[in-house]
Amino acid sequence: MISDNLKSVTKRIAKCCERSGRPEEAVKLVSVTKEADIEEMRAAILAGVTDIGENRVQDAVFKHKAIGDSVIWHLIGHLQTNKAKDAVRIFSLIHSVDSIRIAEAIDKEARKIGKVQEVLVQVNTSGESTKFGVHPEDVDNILRECALYGNIDIKGFMTIAPETSNPETVRPYFRALNELRGRIRTSRGVDYGALSMGMTGDFEVAIEEGATIIRIGRAIFV
Ligand SMILES: *Cc1c(COP(=O)(O)O)cnc(C)c1O
Repeated sequence: MISDNLKSVTKRIAKCCERSGRPEEAVKLVSVTKEADIEEMRAAILAGVTDIGENRVQDAVFKHKAIGDSVIWHLIGHLQTNKAKDAVRIFSLIHSVDSIRIAEAIDKEARKIGKVQEVLVQVNTSGESTKFGVHPEDVDNILRECALYGNIDIKGFMTIAPETSNPETVRPYFRALNELRGRIRTSRGVDYGALSMGMTGDFEVAIEEGATIIRIGRAIFV
């Protein structure tokens, strides 16, 4: 079941990449296991999953104990400073840096264990008040601050589009994140390459708009 789902998602990614003239290796699939139990996670890993996304640090601590470091762990949900220590211990990539305060906490905990923590800055491209993420106009500021932190390495940006039954309606938000990256490449002379965007309902549109990481839960773990 899970392996069939994974196969079908992988095929859709490949087709979409081909259609948009992008190499398949340009898009990394993160399998979101927030609704999955350990058994389902093991099945997914057996079927070829290499990257796991969890949105709560506490759940990840529990699951990490069982699964270990045979997979790459991604934190995709909001992070609180009091969870930074566990987050830095477990996750290879933290997608959800949305304040200078949390960046500082990550830097501090990473320094303690001699790690350079790779992160993405979460951007609220839609302006929805229910979403975490920094306002696009504040991204420059956060990048400037984070440049002072020796134990954080910013790899790019993440966004969550509003829920929709028609993925075309969220295309502008994905495009906005890609354009933001382009503007920063020009203004700061740094190419933050990673764009984490697209979920079960909208990942094909996200790939068309330049996603390099997509986060898929329901389509794999139904
Ligand atoms: C749950 C979640 C996903 C996966 O969503 P699906 O619709 O199940 O594919 C992706 N990103 C974030 C931040 C999530 O919380």
